[in-house]
Amino acid sequence: MRMGGTASTHKMILENGRRYDGRALDQLRPISIQAGVLKRADGSAYVTWGENKVLAAVYGPREVHPRHLQNPARAIVQARYNMASFSVSERKRPGPDRRSQEISKIISEALEAVVFVEQFPRTTVDVFIEVLQADAGTRCAGLTAASVALADAGVPMRDLVPAVASGKVENTVVCDLNKEEDNCGEADLPMAIIPRTGEFLLLQMDGHLTYDELMQAMEYNVKALNYIYQLQKEALRKKYATVQLEEPFVLPKKEELPPTETRREEFPEQPAAPAEVPPPGEEREMDGGA
Ligand code: ADP
Repeated sequence: MRMGGTASTHKMILENGRRYDGRALDQLRPISIQAGVLKRADGSAYVTWGENKVLAAVYGPREVHPRHLQNPARAIVQARYNMASFSVSERKRPGPDRRSQEISKIISEALEAVVFVEQFPRTTVDVFIEVLQADAGTRCAGLTAASVALADAGVPMRDLVPAVASGKVENTVVCDLNKEEDNCGEADLPMAIIPRTGEFLLLQMDGHLTYDELMQAMEYNVKALNYIYQLQKEALRKKYATVQLEEPFVLPKKEELPPTETRREEFPEQPAAPAEVPPPGEEREMDGGA
């Protein structure tokens, strides 16, 4: 949600068609995704996305408490989005607020649509999203991280869930708004899809876009989502990759080794070993034996 169109002291879209932070209109901020960063969670992921830093941890599936929340037909996914008080420039009051409750709800719903919930009746899959540093787009970074954490936990899913928000600044549609653009922007469009099927899991719009602008923002989102999806898969691949030699390693047979003299020549002369000093108490015995 935009925090109100605060006027900025400089132009956001420059004469050369680039944005104030140097990005092209359709360019994402740098993104890194790491899977399996927490030892005690069933699954986890850490995402840095421009200045955003977001951690996701998964526990479950496990029995639902309180019991009245149990669904006898399927699992429930309970995501909790939380922004640390030090994550924004002015200290945020800790604890849930309306915004974090809304974000937790939309993320829970998006994840519930990809997890094979029918396989785990009466259970809950808890997903904790901790925003350590916020710079706009945290719901998308959180959802992106959460789906990697679910996969890392081995929770059966239809697909991973990439998410991104394009928007409009100074009458120009741009991909992946940063905080300053979000602050003085005119609209933003967070979106998440199931890449395999193209189904929408999240589509919100705050502000006003014309039909053409909406189509442009969606096009930027789709392009970015495909890229983020590749990063998610790569993060999981990296965690589970095993070190493999290109050719199997076989110890050389004795006859294949070079002759002893040659081998010795290969090593420089070693300095003489220091004279051995007998440990105290053994001196007499050695003396006597000589
Ligand atoms: P998103 O982070 O998904 O873009 P919003 O559009 O609601 O969600 O928020 C945009 C940005 O505004 C956040 O990423 C964060 O940097 C900032 N922000 C949100 N809530 C607060 C708050 N309570 N105090 C200070 N900054 C906030």
